[in-house]
Amino acid sequence: MKIYNLNTSNDGNKIKLSTIVDSEKLGSKELWFSVPEKYAHGLCKSRMDGFLVGMVFPAMQYGENIHVEGCISSQLLFNLNQYVIPMLMAFLPACKWINITAAESNAEHFDCSGVGTGFSGGVDSFCTFFDHYELEKNTENRINSLVFLNVGSNGPGRTDEELMAAHKKFCSRYEYLSKFPEEFSLDFISLDSNLHSFHPWGHQLTHSLTTISAVLVMQNMYRKYFYASGGLSYLELYKYHELLLKRDTALIDPMLLPLLSTESLNFISDGAQYTRVEKTLRIVDYEPVKRYLNVCVHDRESHENCSVCGKCCRTLMTLNSIGKLEEFSKLFDIGKYKKHAEFLYLCQQVVLQNKDPFARNSIELAKRNGIKLPSFLVSYGLVSLLGLARTYLPKAILSRIRMFLNRS
Ligand SMILES: [Zn+2]
Repeated sequence: MKIYNLNTSNDGNKIKLSTIVDSEKLGSKELWFSVPEKYAHGLCKSRMDGFLVGMVFPAMQYGENIHVEGCISSQLLFNLNQYVIPMLMAFLPACKWINITAAESNAEHFDCSGVGTGFSGGVDSFCTFFDHYELEKNTENRINSLVFLNVGSNGPGRTDEELMAAHKKFCSRYEYLSKFPEEFSLDFISLDSNLHSFHPWGHQLTHSLTTISAVLVMQNMYRKYFYASGGLSYLELYKYHELLLKRDTALIDPMLLPLLSTESLNFISDGAQYTRVEKTLRIVDYEPVKRYLNVCVHDRESHENCSVCGKCCRTLMTLNSIGKLEEFSKLFDIGKYKKHAEFLYLCQQVVLQNKDPFARNSIELAKRNGIKLPSFLVSYGLVSLLGLARTYLPKAILSRIRMFLNRS
């Protein structure tokens, strides 16, 4: 695989930085990132670090060595070959060993003052913002701008249609979320890309690499970047590693991110100092959370919380346990949750509590607060019944059964 021809162009009111990726498997294809003109000074035009990190995983999947016709950070190039490639092979066994070379490398330290993090309105990103903006006094570590990326979290990019749909969702989520940074007069940088078209394996598998890739492209702006973790604490990452192994790079974020840092930009994996429940409790009384919390993973165009998907239910169960459900009635349809999802979700958590750390935390919190939970026997019976029904019955009948069970 060869990455070459770093090029800057004007794309309407956006500035695009692009390269050509030549691959035995993929042929010749453009990889690009773009930002509004206002933030063009942040684009790193002297090194191709971001483009390289974005292509490491695809190259390892295809077993293709990478040569960059351009300059790469000396520290990054060393760390990728020495540590990152063996680490990815250990945790994602489909990855093959490759060697990375570059025409040039240097240890340039860019003169920049940006301290950033991504903002999606979820529990993880709110917790990072609360700790490193609201509570942080030292400007060295205090967040001074937020980023919103289109590298996979808005939907896949395997076809032109999927790329268009993801772009549409990226724009609508950005518009909705931008009201929050506006309140603090903080920049909220939209960073668009087609990187997800090179990652057909799904966002969850490679989100750490694709996110870091995009932030490295903005290396002329940032000297520190907090990446909000996937929701498990340090201990849970070890204890429940099999849940994430081969599926989610969040498992290795605390080891991986420092190795993707350069002489100029320091990446920090933030959030594993808490469990998900601890994070929710930490931010629950932070007023903007009651207006902007957005946790939904329901696959639809709207950015609003659906109140019945797994992540909405997990959040609502936590809020219910601490008696704060009604305080979030502007963001969630509490009636819909109670009527269509709560009882069955509680049953699932009771059954999963010994295998799933999220379920375990949620059940422990409910018990500590005296919330009545369905018994294990009832829960196991209903969850098994639903599993069977899901296999053999059409969706319409299944949804009626779920509604009936939830009411009874
Ligand atoms: Zn939802």
